[in-house]
Amino acid sequence: MHYHYDARMTKLRRLSLTAYEAPLCETIVDCPEPKGSEVLVRIERCGVCHSDLHMQDGYFALGGDKRLDVRAGRNLPFTLGHEIAGVIECAGPDATGAKAGAKIAVYPWIGCGACAACRANEENLCTAPRHLGINADGGFASHVLVPHPRYLIDYAPLSPSFAGTLMCSGLTAYAALKRVADRAARGPVLIVGLGGVGMMGLAFARALFAQPPLVADIDAGKREAALKAGAAAAFDPSDAGARKALMTQTGGVHGVCDFVGSERTLQFATSVLIRGGKVVVTGLLGGAFTTPAAMFALKAMTIEGTLTGTLAEAREVIELARAGKVAALPISERPLAAAQSALDDLRAGRIVGRVVLTS
Ligand SMILES: [Zn+2]
Ligand SMILES: [Zn+2]
Repeated sequence: MHYHYDARMTKLRRLSLTAYEAPLCETIVDCPEPKGSEVLVRIERCGVCHSDLHMQDGYFALGGDKRLDVRAGRNLPFTLGHEIAGVIECAGPDATGAKAGAKIAVYPWIGCGACAACRANEENLCTAPRHLGINADGGFASHVLVPHPRYLIDYAPLSPSFAGTLMCSGLTAYAALKRVADRAARGPVLIVGLGGVGMMGLAFARALFAQPPLVADIDAGKREAALKAGAAAAFDPSDAGARKALMTQTGGVHGVCDFVGSERTLQFATSVLIRGGKVVVTGLLGGAFTTPAAMFALKAMTIEGTLTGTLAEAREVIELARAGKVAALPISERPLAAAQSALDDLRAGRIVGRVVLTS
């Protein structure tokens, strides 16, 4: 539904990246008027993610002194934030189905619509992405412009904070677990890394697979929490006997989701993999991993990477959460103006669960 909207009356308040490796600054501009199929969303919540730290730095650390520069294609000032939930403020004349006032989560991994990945409905893998908070202005703001209403997902009766976090951490966990579903039908799967995303992965594994998964983490408290949440067994990969214990107990695993993505976790994951098994890597911790090349053939081993998930998968995640199949991470809310201190706390490892900014 289109109605007259006076952009001059509304200001877009943003906590913007104005320089890399520098604190966010408040910038205020006129709110854009949505054209065509665009929808203007008034943001209620935006989660703070580790990727935001990398975007603020302008690079990903790849291990050693290697860096992946991620500054290309982004004009400053730029607004970070991709775990967005809000309310439709107004929509362009071609935004069919966008009702002003509707509460929605925003799928942020928006593609160009034309490349091979987009045509295969994998906009998260687009070669010319418009990913919100990564390539296009995102959610550390009062409003965000979304190109089409198909990216907006009803989430009631979930909380807006939970709905927002499902668009990145929840989606990432779900997409990884889905990619070992065929292996889970054969035998045990293992979740490596029990941070927020890994714990969501555990919840999805419990919802999707007949057998509860094994888990591994170097932190005893996290292993304990995972066992309480239904993990079949927990292992400490820093314990020299862990591999042997796991192999004795299970004979090896058919699938692994590595939510850490480091040399050590990939060494552990591949060392406990049975022939024909698959490792899905989602974590971005860094470091370099080596394996004898012959092991790929000898173990018929697959190592696959994932990057967030598709729009269809985002809708599946919301449905599973609505069905009560996955609990929210511990969420603490802070005002938008506190975005930089939230990023600082995340960087310093002082955040348990997720910080969500309120607009
Ligand atoms: Zn994220
Ligand atoms: Zn594309």
